[in-house]
Amino acid sequence: MATAMNRVDLDGRPIRPITICMIGAGGFIGSHLCEKLLMETPHTILALDVYNDKIKHLLKTESLSWNDRIQFHRLNIKNDSRLEGLIKMADLTINLAAICTPADYNTRPLDTIYSNFIDSLPVVKYCTENNKRLIHFSTCEVYGKTIGSFLPKDSPLRQDPAYYILKEDASPCIFGPIEKQRWSYACAKQLIERLIYAEGAENGLEFTIVRPFNWIGPRMDFIPGIDGPSEGVPRVLACFSNALLRREPLKLVDGGQSQRSFIYIKDAIEAVLLMIENPARANGHIFNVGNPYNEVTVRQLAEMMTEVYANVSGEPALEVPTVDVSSKEFYGEGYDDSDKRVPDMTIINRQLGWNPKTSLWDLLESTLTYQHRTYAEAVKKAIARPSSS
Ligand code: NAD
Ligand code: UDP
Repeated sequence: MATAMNRVDLDGRPIRPITICMIGAGGFIGSHLCEKLLMETPHTILALDVYNDKIKHLLKTESLSWNDRIQFHRLNIKNDSRLEGLIKMADLTINLAAICTPADYNTRPLDTIYSNFIDSLPVVKYCTENNKRLIHFSTCEVYGKTIGSFLPKDSPLRQDPAYYILKEDASPCIFGPIEKQRWSYACAKQLIERLIYAEGAENGLEFTIVRPFNWIGPRMDFIPGIDGPSEGVPRVLACFSNALLRREPLKLVDGGQSQRSFIYIKDAIEAVLLMIENPARANGHIFNVGNPYNEVTVRQLAEMMTEVYANVSGEPALEVPTVDVSSKEFYGEGYDDSDKRVPDMTIINRQLGWNPKTSLWDLLESTLTYQHRTYAEAVKKAIARPSSS
């Protein structure tokens, strides 16, 4: 059991137990953060979300040591008068709530903008007015496209880090035209970042902004038709897991040429815990949290996941494991893509001494073992059921 006794911050000061109002605690990141806080710290969580399926294992645990340190409040921050009271009860608010799956950005742009900007406004306001610290989750997508993506395809400068490394305090935010509604999410997140920054500058809000770079691991999103809508399109990890479980080819959007750096959720959560427990080092900062050493194209990700899944499931890979689809066919009108996302780690290294640890192969091995164990039987049953048509 975690005690307050022997835990110290990065400057050797004892860490006192705090109460955290975690909005969006029932999601992928929230579930891992709750687990970490309950198992390894003495802090208390007021967990707010519309859903709690991913944290159920942490809630109904009268016999477990932390049962008095987590309270679930089922509420929608759009329209619930309890929000301010809960923020007031806590020392720190962490806002994770968002619509954050790319399939929604161009098909539900209004919901996306409301969720990522308008719905966060009261959270920021209540934190400022009540002098409460805020850790707000933004996204690496605020960088948009790299400068290098505008160079000719064969330009050697594309290999120069100056044209692609994303730095919190130096890189521009480059989005496509308005009709490319993909950027509705990035633009809403950028504006809420600017608002939080301005509240810090003008009204003294103590804030930290987190820009996650493709955090992946168990409990991310849903498997369509099993624990989510059959027609739903989750993020790439769940899309590819779903295809592997169903023994269908993995769909590569526009050839799978886009590049991403993937980080294991458990490494990323270590960084968030350092931010929570080291306010003097984290306040006023925007942090990239990613793993620059795990960069691959989406095609390479598909190939690696195919190989790892064959190992963990014991089933041979398909002879033709991938298929190309156009982005219009897959996501519809208005899709666009970030070409490459490599985080600069200077600021998080300097402030918190944090580094990612887990290789892409290792994180896929543990994640796909979880996917296989959790879903393989259910998917087999779903496939065997005669369809109603
Ligand atoms: P998620 O969808 O799993 O979690 C978000 C949670 O917020 C969900 O449980 C949802 O029910 C809840 N929520 C949404 N609107 C709400 C509302 N109005 N009231 C109450 N609860 C609400 O997503 P995640 O991957 O855990 O992401 C968390 C945050 O991190 C988001 O802000 C997202 O934009 C950001 N982010 C994540 C990644 C990543 O790699 N996972 C990358 C970039 C940014
Ligand atoms: N993608 C793909 N096939 C899929 C799902 C996603 O090729 O089945 C691509 C998508 O076009 C993007 C990348 O994978 O280039 C990562 O997509 P994700 O949904 O995880 O979110 P993003 O990193 O774009 O925010």
